[in-house]
Amino acid sequence: MYQHLLGLESPRLGGRSAWRVAEVRLDVGAETIEVVAEHPEGTPAAAGCPECGLSLACYDHAPPRKWRHLDSCQFKTYLIASIPRVQCPEHGVRQVGVPWAEGSSRFTLLFERLAIDVLLATQTVKGAMGLLRTNWDQTWNIVQRAVARGKSRKVDGPLPRIGIDEKAFSKGQRYLTLLYDLDHSTVEAISDSNDTEAGIDCFSQLSEGQIASVEAVAMDMSAAYVKAAKAVIPLADQKIVHDRFHVMQLATTAVDQVRRGEHRLLGRGETSPLTKTRYLWLTSLENLNEKQRGLLDEVCEQNLQTGKAWAYKEMLRDLWHHADAASATDYFKDWYKRVIHTKLAPIKKVARTIKQRLANVMSYCTHGITNAVAEGVNSKIMAIKRRVGGYRNKQHFKTAIFFYCGGLNLYP
Ligand SMILES: [Zn+2]
Repeated sequence: MYQHLLGLESPRLGGRSAWRVAEVRLDVGAETIEVVAEHPEGTPAAAGCPECGLSLACYDHAPPRKWRHLDSCQFKTYLIASIPRVQCPEHGVRQVGVPWAEGSSRFTLLFERLAIDVLLATQTVKGAMGLLRTNWDQTWNIVQRAVARGKSRKVDGPLPRIGIDEKAFSKGQRYLTLLYDLDHSTVEAISDSNDTEAGIDCFSQLSEGQIASVEAVAMDMSAAYVKAAKAVIPLADQKIVHDRFHVMQLATTAVDQVRRGEHRLLGRGETSPLTKTRYLWLTSLENLNEKQRGLLDEVCEQNLQTGKAWAYKEMLRDLWHHADAASATDYFKDWYKRVIHTKLAPIKKVARTIKQRLANVMSYCTHGITNAVAEGVNSKIMAIKRRVGGYRNKQHFKTAIFFYCGGLNLYP
């Protein structure tokens, strides 16, 4: 039975496999089953020399090894075998490959496939550990091997529309830079930190052909990524798009600065009309419920600076509702003129920043991209991070991002 279950006689191997099950050991107390597979001396080693494929007879056997296989009912099942070695005239004494596992893995192919499915379904290493009855190191090893496998198979296809963004990976100011394929919602490259060097490093992880294929890059308005794009991507100036998400994020932060300043001024440390209103100003109007809108109307009637700043922020949102760059530019100029004559310093600063980078904000009309896709991937990454309570190990966090968001073919 186990000879069939382990696939040792499967048609895939042409039924020629010299492996056979020699013994099955059942341990009822430990709820384990050990299946001992045997490859008799002298029989030809099916796979031959692992280097050159030369068909050779078995020379000797390596010490026994153990692989975890799919459970037999509720019993943990292990496969035990001594791998035959061949003596190749060119490559010396080598272990042959076995049909049930990859080179150094401690799991059979079928178990590893199941583990990957479970990891993808549970979205957490800990959750998968519970179902698979594996420990953290074993489970993490499967993740790492799957990512390495997926990356080595990955074909460097064209990347016409990409996005670059920073991502905090733990509390404090520790960041990674992520490069996204906006068409496939995948993470293509990751590098440490969020400065110009990090941006250059990320872009440089793409192949030459991929860099040449880039038509548009979505990013925030910080100088770091602009410089990085210009250093790596030809004609970057025409391809950079400061997308709506980042521009509005900047405006929202400015409203909050106005609110904090005004709250300090009005409340002198005590309560003010602005007490507990922070979320009203930070959420977009369309996302507020009726009660919240009522509250917002009330605060706005008090003719506060924060209310004005908020109104300008909401006006700016309409910038992305124009059919072409010319009418959007007119709209912005009008908005700018209104804003620049106010006393709202943080909003004025945003207006100046946008004006400076206007061509690359308007380029959304040509390229039609936003980092909205990246935001989708981002929330997925946030969820992964939340479930493990933050990755203290940066390398592990990167591996998890590639496992869940890399669009890789992970299976053995
Ligand atoms: Zn050889």
